[in-house]
Amino acid sequence: MTPERSYFEVYAVRYATREARSGEHFYGHDPHDVPMPMDYFVWAAVSEDHTLVIDAGFNAEVAARRGRVHLRCPTDGLGDLGIDSGEVPLVILTHLHYDHVGNLEKFPAATFVVQEEELKFWTGRYAGRPHFRSMVEPEDVLRLVRENFAGRLRFVAGSEEVVPGVEVYRTGGHSRGLQIVRIRTLRGGVVLASDAAHFYANIEQDRPFSIVTDLAQMYGAFDLVRSLADTPAHVVPGHDPLVMERFPPAKEGLEGIAVRIA
Ligand SMILES: [Zn+2]
Repeated sequence: MTPERSYFEVYAVRYATREARSGEHFYGHDPHDVPMPMDYFVWAAVSEDHTLVIDAGFNAEVAARRGRVHLRCPTDGLGDLGIDSGEVPLVILTHLHYDHVGNLEKFPAATFVVQEEELKFWTGRYAGRPHFRSMVEPEDVLRLVRENFAGRLRFVAGSEEVVPGVEVYRTGGHSRGLQIVRIRTLRGGVVLASDAAHFYANIEQDRPFSIVTDLAQMYGAFDLVRSLADTPAHVVPGHDPLVMERFPPAKEGLEGIAVRIA
């Protein structure tokens, strides 16, 4: 008898946006410097047995300080999907950049899944250097250190099945311990690439994003994302406004707010 398999529904919630130009989004330079806005998302994976949230976004105060357009609290977007952030038991943090790990206090019941290398980096000797320091909110890192002492971090070193049907894989590249998430759905294996591919253009054209800790690992991340996704259409980039066009609204009334990926 085959063991029971659970399948997940996957959602992307758009919580912020900003105007930008393509020259900002590619390592090296972009010969066609044209408008290329950037969206900010959190994601959710829901099955009969499990509800997981992937990343936590940033709050309105951080958005104002950094010149981002905050559309809604990510937890309100999750609430629109029927997910109460106060009760979510597992939150996977793809990496510790400010736009992925604010709002942790809004998940009081959660264990946070982090790559060991990622927390090590942001508490280590290079975190405060100019290229890196602007990418995190120190308070977010401090909170994670405190959560560790409270027993609320689950460390992964490499790859692991977090719950049956949801796997994380460390890629590095964009940040030292960046991890991607593969989710089993009824339409196949979906990969939430997070910042392993900010835009479809990064991975489809093999052009790394501008923010890099290790360029070779970034190419390796493209390879890993491709190998884990059932088809290229199963790759979900971390910041591309096209996600809102390529997938249907999660339900009526959520146009522009949340899409159902699978
Ligand atoms: Zn990032």
